[in-house]
Amino acid sequence: MKKSTLLTQPGYPFAFDPSACDTCGGHCCNGESGNIWVTRREMEALAEALGMDVPSFAEESLKKVGYRYSIRERCEGQNYACLLFDGKKGGCSVYDARPAQCRSFPFWDYFRERPDEAVAECPGVILDGRPGPSA
Ligand code: SF4
Ligand code: SF4
Repeated sequence: MKKSTLLTQPGYPFAFDPSACDTCGGHCCNGESGNIWVTRREMEALAEALGMDVPSFAEESLKKVGYRYSIRERCEGQNYACLLFDGKKGGCSVYDARPAQCRSFPFWDYFRERPDEAVAECPGVILDGRPGPSA
């Protein structure tokens, strides 16, 4: 179980309840195709969490996009799931080692100006007392 304390960040018009992740099913790890950026340090942490060496992890789970690395996705019909998403568990298989991009969700610059999109995408987002879609 994750913390149920509401999180806020200066400049963001919404709050986030991390306990929503327990029952959400991983909306933010599924959906449209996108990049999940990882730094070298994050690669090392992810490889360690999976009990792999970095080159094997990179070959199996990462793709190079320009000069950066992103976690590969699995295409399931219309849905793209992060390769590290555990469908049976309904959550991240490497939660404690997940990269900063995942840790900082939904407090992304993009959502700061688009709180309605944040509340539509994440049931943990609370905007004007209104929770997300399946909370
Ligand atoms: S969409 Fe929101 S509630 Fe669901 S797993 Fe992601 S951060 Fe948690
Ligand atoms: S690394 Fe984990 S939290 Fe991040 S998108 Fe993949 S499954 Fe989701």
